[in-house]
Amino acid sequence: MAQTSDVVIIGGGAAGCSVAYYLAQAGIKSTVIEREGVASQASGFSAGGLNPLQGTCIPGPLGPLAIESYRMHTKLWDVLGEETGIDYDGRVISLIKVAFDEAELPELQETVDLFAPVEGFEARWLDSREVLYLEPRVSPNAIRGVYARGNAALDSYKFTLALLQAAESRGAESRSATVLGLERSDSEVTEVLLADGKISCGQVVLAMGPWSRRAEPWLDAYIPVDPLKGEILRMELPGPSLSHDLSGGGGSLHPKPDGLVWCGTTEEWQGFDKNTSDSARQSILEGAVRLVPDMDQARVALQTACLRPVTPDWLPIIGRMPGWDNVYLATGAGKKGVLLSPGIGKSIADLIANGETQLPIVEFDPGRFAQAAIA
Ligand SMILES: Cc1cc2nc3c(=O)[nH]c(=O)nc-3n(C[C@H](O)[C@H](O)[C@H](O)COP(=O)(O)OP(=O)(O)OC[C@H]3O[C@@H](n4cnc5c(N)ncnc54)[C@H](O)[C@@H]3O)c2cc1C
Repeated sequence: MAQTSDVVIIGGGAAGCSVAYYLAQAGIKSTVIEREGVASQASGFSAGGLNPLQGTCIPGPLGPLAIESYRMHTKLWDVLGEETGIDYDGRVISLIKVAFDEAELPELQETVDLFAPVEGFEARWLDSREVLYLEPRVSPNAIRGVYARGNAALDSYKFTLALLQAAESRGAESRSATVLGLERSDSEVTEVLLADGKISCGQVVLAMGPWSRRAEPWLDAYIPVDPLKGEILRMELPGPSLSHDLSGGGGSLHPKPDGLVWCGTTEEWQGFDKNTSDSARQSILEGAVRLVPDMDQARVALQTACLRPVTPDWLPIIGRMPGWDNVYLATGAGKKGVLLSPGIGKSIADLIANGETQLPIVEFDPGRFAQAAIA
């Protein structure tokens, strides 16, 4: 007998697991289908940064969803931790940005301008002495800095697992399989095709990250999501640990609760290549040592590479697929997919449960690309 599910979610990354979580909250059962392991791709290897005030298209069209998602995260880390027993290190970790020359000062000013007016956030200028007082291992060559409070972080691997586990405790299921295609009837998808069978479904959510284009022939649709490779070095820094996220001079350092310092990241268009490279390692190390000279004594514990799902306008694709009654897209969140995942999950769950959402996703409608494809 064919298996059936109210909602099939294709992809077990942060996007797919968040959809499952919020559907479960709404009393709707789903089945998450993941081919390589839950959080086995970018969602399991990201830096886990949750800065909702800066980034590509922030401030800008992504700003409102970023801040909503941030506020959802700060509520989730207690709730999910208690519900699942998974402590995924959700925390506010202040940021210090430094400048090594006058040319870098406008970027610091921008951080002050963006953080200072927002409730719950704070930013102030530091002179070089204050930088060293707060973070003694920063290079003495830094001429000024900015302290920004409100930036947050989590372990995105454990977070994604926690979302799925909480969904499963409310009736969601997960299955290890590759989706090979979709069975259709008029404007509906009726079945999801796997190598060893099919699943009849009421609704389908595509949360396939950088592999979303694989669904184009399944739906005769244009789903322009491409992989942007990024590498990170996890470093063991001997001596006292850092206590802020640090950036400046081409380096970016993220101290983690287990004592490791994550350094990165790179951005390269290399198709689906996920091999780590000596050139990325070299460029990350150079930036790290310029920022904190002691990093030249640090040992590389692990070098990772993974793929961000990026769209042509750098905005995610969230909503119902035009021309299809029961197909939804939850993909393309680029460099902010972990931050945005609660907003993505809740808005798709709202659309499935109620046909509408209060979350600010109008600009991320999949229809914008359908129109671009016709024009
Ligand atoms: C180096 C780096 C650092 C980053 N740092 C941050 C950060 O600090 N903060 C932040 O917010 N974001 C960060 N990101 C971005 C973030 O990691 C991604 O945007 C996010 O993880 C994307 O989640 P996703 O669920 O859309 O995709 P993915 O995590 O890629 O999940 C998609 C899943 O779908 C599965 N799948 C695909 N096709 C099929 C199929 N046919 N059948 C079954 N399963 C399928 C895949 O196996 C995969 O597990 C970073 C990314 C990189 C690369």
